[in-house]
Amino acid sequence: MLKTVVVIHYHELWLKGRNRRFFLGKFLLALRRVFADFPSARMRQPGDRVVLEFGLDAPLETIIVRLKGVLGIAYFAVARSVQRGSSDDLDALCQAAWEEVEPLEFSNFAVRAKRSDKSFLHRVDEIERRVGQYLLEKLRAAGRSVRVQLDDPEITCRIEITPGPMLVYAKRIPGTGGLPANTTGRMVCLLSGGFDSAVAAYKMMRRGAHVNFVHFWGGGARPGESSVHVARALVERLVPYQFTARLYLVPFEPVQREIVRSAPERYRLLLYRRMMLRIAERIARRNHAQAIIAGDSLGQVASQTLQNMVAVGAASPMPVFRPLAGDDKQEILALARRIGTFEVSEEPFHDCCPLFLPRSPALYASATDLEEAETGLNIIELTKKAVETSVLERYSYAGGRVERVEAAPAVVSTAENSVGQLNQQKD
Ligand code: ATP
Ligand code: MG
Repeated sequence: MLKTVVVIHYHELWLKGRNRRFFLGKFLLALRRVFADFPSARMRQPGDRVVLEFGLDAPLETIIVRLKGVLGIAYFAVARSVQRGSSDDLDALCQAAWEEVEPLEFSNFAVRAKRSDKSFLHRVDEIERRVGQYLLEKLRAAGRSVRVQLDDPEITCRIEITPGPMLVYAKRIPGTGGLPANTTGRMVCLLSGGFDSAVAAYKMMRRGAHVNFVHFWGGGARPGESSVHVARALVERLVPYQFTARLYLVPFEPVQREIVRSAPERYRLLLYRRMMLRIAERIARRNHAQAIIAGDSLGQVASQTLQNMVAVGAASPMPVFRPLAGDDKQEILALARRIGTFEVSEEPFHDCCPLFLPRSPALYASATDLEEAETGLNIIELTKKAVETSVLERYSYAGGRVERVEAAPAVVSTAENSVGQLNQQKD
């Protein structure tokens, strides 16, 4: 039996220009981390693709599932590997190509060969012609009406002559696309327990951003019904895409009480959001992050009218990215299913925001309205206090396993009571 070999084609766009080596380095690093538990796996880069060679007993299903999660892959294929060296190399290639294409449905095809080992006896065009001819005859003999089409064929049977084995593959498995993890900058995501913000974070991760998370909890939760476990589970689902993540857990009830005490009822939710943004901005600066991510979708709920989003966003000078602004709920849910956050967000949890909410919230607030409503709040003090009482958890992923490092106060000088408080919230 031969080894399992996977050929990975990465997205070509990030190959252009001077950053090529940087992106490629991060991409290879990601592959190494994803397969850290397969120490015997070997990685080669013939030309513009990556070839991964696993040991004999490597589980193919696991390999495929993991590769589907690696950012930056255009498509990949499990290759048949054919031993080289005998005088009938071409016959062996024909046979492997036939086994590869026979189960596929198509009406036209092409054969494409590449030689990264130039010592191979046969030239590329010779290989292509021989194998193409062979396949055509076999297919027709099997009663299938197919033809060769070199320009934009339905399937391409690829043959690679490497210094090791010869590789044959025709069945493409689509990857997620996007840019390799951790290549485009740092951001901080406002993570609730709902569907949207986790998907929003993923969309930015897919563009190469490294995302840390801020979750606000409390606001009337009785012991055992906190949202903290949901936020944790979401981060555990997301960290495999970028390998490390921080989760800041911020007790929010003290802030909410101040808002309820001092501001007009109809603005409460928007003021909660403005405080979340300010606190997240402070955390973002500590993380050297340059922007904040939120899961709002235009017009989805009362707090997400264009006016309200703009008025909330005005609370912080830091740019707020809302990658779902133009998506429908159905599209968001479909993506949540694909990335593995759906089942987590589906669980009931205690959202802190509905606490003390009015029956008719403001639909069209301006930044000025909200600034006026905030005059009775000590914003600096509340923000500082919230950061000081928050708890930081670190997550990491490698080789199929997520690890969480014990909770610690987010700010070194804080008293231990924030960790203690949080542990009571665990359920
Ligand atoms: P989600 O599904 O992400 O909760 P949503 O459509 O339910 O989004 P809202 O609950 O109005 O919308 O929240 C809008 C955004 O505000 C969220 O997507 C998230 O980015 C942020 N947010 C809301 N609640 C919290 C929270 N408790 N902690 C952190 N961020 C929050
Ligand atoms: Mg929500």
